[in-house]
Amino acid sequence: MSTQHVQRMSRLLAKTLREDPADAETLSHRLLVRAGYVRRSSAGVWTWLPLGKRVLENVSRIVREEMDAIGAQEVLLPALLPREPYEVSGRWSEYGDLLFRLKDRKGADYLLGPTHEEIFTLLVKDQCTSYKDLPVMLYQIQTKYRDEARPRSGVLRGREFQMKDSYSFDVSDEGLAHSYALHRAAYQRIFERLGLDHRIVSAVSGAMGGSASEEFLAPARAGEDTFADCPSCDYAANTEAVTFALTPVEAEHGPLEEIPTPDTPTIETLAAHLGVPASATLKNLLVKVDGEIVAVGVPGDREVDLGKLGEHLAPAVVELVTAEDFADRPDLVRGYVGPQGLEKVRYLADPRVAPGTSWVTGANKPDTHARNVVCGRDFEVDRYLDVVVVEPGDPCPACGSGLALDRAIEIGHIFQLGRKYADAFGLDVLGREGKPVRVTMGSYGIGVSRVVAALAEQTADERGLCWPASAAPADVHVVAAGKAVPLALAESAATALAEAGHRVLLDDRPGLSPGVKLTDAELIGVPWILVAGRRSADGVVELQHRATGTREELPLAEALTRVV
Ligand code: ATP
Ligand code: MG
Repeated sequence: MSTQHVQRMSRLLAKTLREDPADAETLSHRLLVRAGYVRRSSAGVWTWLPLGKRVLENVSRIVREEMDAIGAQEVLLPALLPREPYEVSGRWSEYGDLLFRLKDRKGADYLLGPTHEEIFTLLVKDQCTSYKDLPVMLYQIQTKYRDEARPRSGVLRGREFQMKDSYSFDVSDEGLAHSYALHRAAYQRIFERLGLDHRIVSAVSGAMGGSASEEFLAPARAGEDTFADCPSCDYAANTEAVTFALTPVEAEHGPLEEIPTPDTPTIETLAAHLGVPASATLKNLLVKVDGEIVAVGVPGDREVDLGKLGEHLAPAVVELVTAEDFADRPDLVRGYVGPQGLEKVRYLADPRVAPGTSWVTGANKPDTHARNVVCGRDFEVDRYLDVVVVEPGDPCPACGSGLALDRAIEIGHIFQLGRKYADAFGLDVLGREGKPVRVTMGSYGIGVSRVVAALAEQTADERGLCWPASAAPADVHVVAAGKAVPLALAESAATALAEAGHRVLLDDRPGLSPGVKLTDAELIGVPWILVAGRRSADGVVELQHRATGTREELPLAEALTRVV
């Protein structure tokens, strides 16, 4: 093994801070700043100091090795991009305020790349002409720009950040599925090597189709994503992708009965008035889908997730109805809508409103509700859609156990794009039969700088950062806890460790107490801390394992063999 470098803390460009930065909301933000890994430059824009740059490089190296291993080729495209391709794809305007736009001296429009589907499509169109040139997988590790609305979590959500983005180009759907599977497996290896606890969740709801897109999530309190996680089986999904199974019920029900219900403007007052739980009531939300009024039925105790509804019905536009929409619709009695007798309105319902279930709902008359309104007997559902907000304890779609909802950080996203960009740019290659074939594409991202913060979030403890060896800025942190003899022993330990191939941080700073140095070592979070202190004259050092906190006093020679 080759000799490694000893980085002296006395020369290191970075001061540890005792106080948390005032604007820091997340643990990783606080610790990465306090331990001297990053410095804020402007909102959402960060400088990587030597220790931080090392961690970023370690993550990049692992990403690079695993991308190379699946046969992806590394390139580097510009970050400064012309407007035209993004105009062709529609994203120049679709991106809205998220896009950094700028002009050159001639007044031509440019943007700073938020992601590069357009440019890679053009590159492949330029370079590949025959099916023999495909499949091809290309990647880059590059600075990306997004003018995020709330860049508040340190490097977790930057406006300038590092992303590994890759793109696959295939002639067939099977080819795309294979490229996707290769990426999925590579991502799993990357996060395993980094020791990052992660889940793969389906990112697209059922209606949009199966496995077209999956997210890699790192569970962490600071996460901005919520996902459903089953404690009993391996099911995990983005909350938007959770679907409740439709199970018809066999039961006898009494006849439909109308009941006067004055002064019951809310589900709560109605349920109290009738002495039934809110879950026995059926609430019917009216929405406009491409201008047509439709009703959406969900149990009274559940909220409709309008985002989820919009995603199910995309590309149709979903809007809430307004008072004006009721004006010429005497069939719609505001506040008393029931699916029975809704003749001119399409009825969408949550799968909990299954055939055979019985409900209390509006009677389509003012101040009146109806009970024993049975699905399949008194009304029909035109289409089932799971559109309620998922709640803890909802049944797992795979095994039925109660789901937990957890916070997580999105660290990666893999996507079977299909022919969207190939269509936009006319990307064809000459097929086996001599005819042009439209290329199909995948796109795959890892937030390299975000991964650094996600690792910090998952591994830090009350004493500071605590890196897994694969990402740590050094293998061992040697502390000279004293002048003269301890310093000499620390120097020789550092040299010996570096010669044995370990990356070493040596705290040789004069004039600092052993306590301060140890506190800093724990804050910086290198896997091993070797302290030359009181017993240095006997050649005895203390070896601390940062993650477990175990400490042992050992002769230096023995301590050197323990560091792995
Ligand atoms: P988010 O929902 O967190 O905004 P996204 O879905 O917009 O992310 P993608 O377009 O899927 O992000 O980008 C690929 C990866 O890049 C993400 O999975 C994430 O790890 C990373 N990433 C995205 N935005 C940022 C950001 N502002 N700062 C740091 N990393 C980011
Ligand atoms: Mg994403």
